[in-house]
Amino acid sequence: MRVLIVDDDPIHRRLLQASLKTAHDVYEADDGQAAWELLQRESFHFVITDWMMPQMDGVDLIRNIRASNWISYTYIILVTAKGNRHDMIEGLESGADDYMIKPFDQAELRARMTIGERILNLEMRLRELATHDYLTALLNRRAIYDEVNKELQRARRTGYPLSLIMLDIDHFKKVNDTHGHLVGDEALCLVANTLKEGARSYDTVGRWGGEEFLILLPETSLLEASQVAERVRISVSTTSLVLPDQSPLHVQISLGVTSTSIGQLTNGELPALNMLLQQADDALLLAKRTGRNRVCVFGRMSVPDSVDRFQTDER
Ligand code: GH3
Ligand code: MG
Ligand code: MG
Repeated sequence: MRVLIVDDDPIHRRLLQASLKTAHDVYEADDGQAAWELLQRESFHFVITDWMMPQMDGVDLIRNIRASNWISYTYIILVTAKGNRHDMIEGLESGADDYMIKPFDQAELRARMTIGERILNLEMRLRELATHDYLTALLNRRAIYDEVNKELQRARRTGYPLSLIMLDIDHFKKVNDTHGHLVGDEALCLVANTLKEGARSYDTVGRWGGEEFLILLPETSLLEASQVAERVRISVSTTSLVLPDQSPLHVQISLGVTSTSIGQLTNGELPALNMLLQQADDALLLAKRTGRNRVCVFGRMSVPDSVDRFQTDER
């Protein structure tokens, strides 16, 4: 695990470093302020901090960490010479998970770190459960929504376009009705895996709802996103599930594409998050209405010359 040691006394830093370096990836800061600056750039599982330090002391550092809205939990151990009961209560109340009095015992520190690891592992498992869809293991609706939000804010800062593809399996109810819910589930996983395999490393794929998925494409223009969508459409339609009687089951998808570049081109502004999602949904609806198994692009609602072009690639 990544451990940040914060102490203004180099001897103490060395002692802590020596106790932990074989089991952990250990970093150092020589006071609360330096630690706080480092924590803005990098994340750490553990912060082991002294209390009395120049500039920012340990308790202020802890309060700052607890007031931050970081995605993952930081387990904090306060290691200090302040040894009375009142200090210990104040230290723990500031947000420390544990408290040790100097001079510390190395074996005791390692034992206490094990408690921290247990808690961090629990937290990681809970976060995994809270952000991933159980069936397909893709990001769930809330997590992909958060990702879109984050990328939209980044697009505002950088000026690069952000594109979205919303897609839905065609006539999926028929798959369930004909082959049963379990085969339906397998088909959903097959589509999910095909999307994941087809995605570029910087794209994010999520399950938006029942048989509906969302692909988030940062730094991608509308044209590039449309090409990705068409590739995805073809790969899903050419992949099949083998049914118990060995016959293949094919599914097809309809896709709607939109991009922040559309707003940027028309009025120089980026659409709000829900507007962008609505645009992708509108484009998807058009793909459904104009025959399914196709890509439609928001903004070209009236006709599908893009659709005709996309359709010719089909085999
Ligand atoms: P369309 O082409 O218009 O999208 O038609 P459709 O049949 O795909 O759409 P509809 O919304 O009528 O049906 C979606 C079906 O997806 C109904 C629902 O039972 C099924 N579904 C949603 N989630 C799951 C799931 O987790 N597992 C399975 N097996 N089926 C699911
Ligand atoms: Mg459907
Ligand atoms: Mg649907």
